[in-house]
Amino acid sequence: MRVRVVPSAAGGGRLEYLTTFIIDGAVAIDAGSLGFWASPAAQAGVAHVFLSHTHADHVCSLPMFVANTASLRSAPPVIHGSAGVLDSLARDVFNGRVWPDFLQLSARGAPLLALREAPAGAACAVGALRVTPVAVDHAVPTVSHIVDDGRSAIVISTDSGPTRALWRKAARIPHLKAVFLGTSFPEEERALAAVAGHLTPALVERELAKMPSGVPVYAVHIKPGHRRRVVCQLGALKRPRLLIGDSSRDYEF
Ligand SMILES: [Zn+2]
Ligand SMILES: [Zn+2]
Repeated sequence: MRVRVVPSAAGGGRLEYLTTFIIDGAVAIDAGSLGFWASPAAQAGVAHVFLSHTHADHVCSLPMFVANTASLRSAPPVIHGSAGVLDSLARDVFNGRVWPDFLQLSARGAPLLALREAPAGAACAVGALRVTPVAVDHAVPTVSHIVDDGRSAIVISTDSGPTRALWRKAARIPHLKAVFLGTSFPEEERALAAVAGHLTPALVERELAKMPSGVPVYAVHIKPGHRRRVVCQLGALKRPRLLIGDSSRDYEF
């Protein structure tokens, strides 16, 4: 399984303003930076997008992704999300004000995108991958994702405070190879992290104890304004399996 942590800025800057992961060039988790990534042809290789929630840093480039690739596809991209996420896309994104109503246009003519409900807990097969959304604990209803190709599995959990169901599910996967874990705030902002449903390094340490041992954990989705402090505080935990996610490379599992 090849995992790309899509950079937020052209040139591959490491600051994570936006969030997208691309698996095997074909499946995206979130669409923060997806529509700003690489070339329209590369974007058109992505046939399925799974959304964790509709906070702007996870969906802001979804309209551009759909528009960039419309003329390059034989079938529209399938956007998977909870019922709440699909409702929010219709009301808040493709609403004729923020962006043209691609849903209505798709119903009238050649479809630009297809929405598919992905309930939490139900695995969805896309090509060789199985993607399972798992409800987590964030400021709005949100899922994290387990992506499994049968030989390797990973967890992508960018926006959640302390949680349990996800780690219980992960513990049952013997071929789990990595966890990408959102670590948004430094300790000084722990009150804000609690309200927003995010982790600080001390909370990450407690989450590590709930996860399968030995699996590498890559800290991602670090708020750009706090990056230096968060990276420093994660280093101070001195946990060899805890690494900083790198959006300038691909991961192979
Ligand atoms: Zn969020
Ligand atoms: Zn976020």
